[in-house]
Amino acid sequence: MSTLPQQLGQDFLPAYCVVCDQRCTRLTWLCGHCRLDVDSNPWPCPRCALPGVGPRGYCRCHKTRSTLYRVEAPLLYTKTPRALIKRWKFERRIELTQLLVTLALEGTTGKRSLLSHHHYDVLIPIGMPWRTRLTRGFNQSHCLALALQSSIKTLAATPVVPALSSANRKRAQHHLSRAARLTNAAQRFSVGRSVSGLRVLLVDDVLTTGATVENAAQALRNAGAARIDAWCLARSLPPESKSI
Ligand SMILES: [Zn+2]
Ligand SMILES: [Zn+2]
Repeated sequence: MSTLPQQLGQDFLPAYCVVCDQRCTRLTWLCGHCRLDVDSNPWPCPRCALPGVGPRGYCRCHKTRSTLYRVEAPLLYTKTPRALIKRWKFERRIELTQLLVTLALEGTTGKRSLLSHHHYDVLIPIGMPWRTRLTRGFNQSHCLALALQSSIKTLAATPVVPALSSANRKRAQHHLSRAARLTNAAQRFSVGRSVSGLRVLLVDDVLTTGATVENAAQALRNAGAARIDAWCLARSLPPESKSI
């Protein structure tokens, strides 16, 4: 049963699902159908967050070297999460940050999560070129890190430090192949604070090839970070499994 303020809100302040535009309550932002359509990441690889590797295994990523020790991405970047994330990022819907974090945390309920089983000295959001920051109006990774800090008891005292700065790039990263991304991202990040000896949790929104977090991790490792894990909202599926 809804409370009087909720009822008044529904009657006089109609709200619509941010994905399908069906009417819903402003308190939830998503209609029931779209909420059910948010896919969590089943049995992800603990090293690259690729879905479906089983309870103990790793995918083929163990054959490649990585600076990252663990990577977690609780949601799959499928239809509804993709629509939600695009509205959040490209339509300046900064108020959706908490909803996205809540959906992601629901995706790790009952699982062994980085957030509750490891201690970090610092949360570092992926840096963004200043031109992009100016155009977008906010750094979504920084917002995510702040929302994680306020939502997770074990991170409440962990500072969010925007230590990574990113050079401007001529081409958007999401249009590039993995090889092109690695080239594009080489020496892309610089570290503006001391991270020597620290355990770092990198925070980003969508994990596609992993090139961005890997390059950021390399910059942090070169600056002396002791351990670097990454937490992302959602994992993009490789081309051969896009039908999931
Ligand atoms: Zn909907
Ligand atoms: Zn893997």
